[in-house]
Amino acid sequence: MKFRCSSCRLRMKALHFHCEEGRGQPTLASICDICRQAGLSARDFENDPVQLFAQTLNMRYAGKLIEQNNEQETYHAASVVQESEFKRQLENLIVNYDTNELVQRQVARKTLNEVLWSILTGKIKPTLTGDYKVDFAAVGLRIEYDLNNLDFIAREIIRRQYNHRCQYCGRRGNSVDHKNPVSLSDDNSLENLTLACQECNGIKGNMPYYFFVHLNNQIQGVNRQLVDYENLINSLEQSFRARHNQLIARTHLKNVIDDPELRHLRKQNKELQAAIDSVNSDYLELRNSRRKYFSSQWKMHRMVEQDTII
Ligand SMILES: [Zn+2]
Ligand SMILES: [Zn+2]
Repeated sequence: MKFRCSSCRLRMKALHFHCEEGRGQPTLASICDICRQAGLSARDFENDPVQLFAQTLNMRYAGKLIEQNNEQETYHAASVVQESEFKRQLENLIVNYDTNELVQRQVARKTLNEVLWSILTGKIKPTLTGDYKVDFAAVGLRIEYDLNNLDFIAREIIRRQYNHRCQYCGRRGNSVDHKNPVSLSDDNSLENLTLACQECNGIKGNMPYYFFVHLNNQIQGVNRQLVDYENLINSLEQSFRARHNQLIARTHLKNVIDDPELRHLRKQNKELQAAIDSVNSDYLELRNSRRKYFSSQWKMHRMVEQDTII
């Protein structure tokens, strides 16, 4: 059976129409807790299904009693959510709150109800998507999610936020990274998350964030070179693929293997491949020396710290 609040017309689940008016005795109310919290009294609203349900379960009913002869629906809705799609999403949000302990620990029901009331009365008009993380943010609730529960969508949001770029070196990157590693800080808040490339992620390892960033800031010139290399290699490889496809198409068209034009194309491709190999090896050398720089500095740092302790 579905119950609706007689005031706002949103679905009411067991949690939302239980009320304390019965002094310990379970009581069902004609309106939801959002509306009650906003100061409306259940006594002013009829709710046929809830009244019947309460009777069946032998529970108390808080609401205006239905008069036998009165066929007119007399509830005077304080605020009726008009769009049914929007209403459905709002109800979804409430269900998500009710079933998510992590969210409940961070946002009190009272706070949620205040927010919902603002929406019901048109004070705020958020665009809801059906994705609860996006929607909680859209209604202005700041919630931190455990990284282990960080689902694909949340990771995608972080990736888009940083434009798929490693925040340390500037190359393409898609690894969602803890600034301070979980093993040290246990901090899974969104402020502790950033985007890194796999290489930086690996180099950083368990290094404290401030130390890694300090070292990284000293070599911004090297990082810029890495970005240049990456771009150069990408564009070379792209043109190599295009030429390779052209060669296949021409071979197919001419229906011969050996031909002056094809030989020329093959020679060009070979030269291009050699150029790519050479750039790649320079690139690798630079990456290796960068890696060595980080690991030697980190080793030194720890040695100094040990000495200080001794
Ligand atoms: Zn309501
Ligand atoms: Zn990087």
